[in-house]
Amino acid sequence: MVVANQKGGVGKTTTTVNIAAALAQLGQRVLVIDLDPQGNASTALSVEHRRGVPSTYDALVDGRPLAEIAQPCPELPSLYVVPATIDLAGAEIELVSVVAREGRLRKAIHAHPLVGAESLAGEDRFDYVLIDCPPSLGLLTLNALVAGDEMMIPIQAEYYALEGLGQLLETVDMVRAHLNPDLAVSTILMTMYDARTRLAAGVAEEVRNHFGDQVLRTNIPRSVRVSEAPSYGQTVMTYDPGSPGALSYLEAAREIATKGVHG
Ligand code: ADP
Ligand code: MG
Repeated sequence: MVVANQKGGVGKTTTTVNIAAALAQLGQRVLVIDLDPQGNASTALSVEHRRGVPSTYDALVDGRPLAEIAQPCPELPSLYVVPATIDLAGAEIELVSVVAREGRLRKAIHAHPLVGAESLAGEDRFDYVLIDCPPSLGLLTLNALVAGDEMMIPIQAEYYALEGLGQLLETVDMVRAHLNPDLAVSTILMTMYDARTRLAAGVAEEVRNHFGDQVLRTNIPRSVRVSEAPSYGQTVMTYDPGSPGALSYLEAAREIATKGVHG
């Protein structure tokens, strides 16, 4: 599942790591691919991502197998992470001259022996692959949209929430028409929801009118515990499992699991 929205700060990374951790807590095997050169998902999941560590860059640019690169998340044994190092910032330019440059990530994921056909990989197989995208619609995000079948868009329940969404959906249409017919926006998640404000309720209503059932029933509340967790190298799911943020992400993950969304 591709977690994308070209707006920065809407909760992509927070959602990726917490949904991944919640799914892992629900007994699922999850692979997170950090596709943002800032490596915030790698930080939150506490995996090494200093320069020189095998990373998404090596998979995209040199075709190194993801299975060699993925690291187990120390907190959650059924969660693996392909980290992003700062090298990934250069990949956008380096890939321009590479053949089939927008299909590099898809190729890497499909080559992973534990992703795909159930019969082949047995019980070690990943149930979910979550890709955390950078805040742009460049070649990195394009690789993610070509690689995934399902897409999740986190939307921050604030005034400019819907700005830029049209452009994102046009990009999805373009990818579906030319590069990946299977791509579907399956899931919308309202993040940083402040139940006390009329604005948040208004934005959520507008999003629900537009996207209907694609919008998860669970909204993620704005909560300091959620934003503190990464500085301890944790997700809120392990940092403060009983907090409203953690409970909401767990509920959202349950919805995703019951909807049968896959990656
Ligand atoms: P993106 O990946 O889309 O740029 P992030 O997930 O990094 O967005 O979130 C942007 C900022 O908002 C971060 O500082 C993060 O800690 C904070 N944040 C995200 N979700 C919440 C939340 N539910 N409550 C409080 N802060 C949040
Ligand atoms: Mg991010």
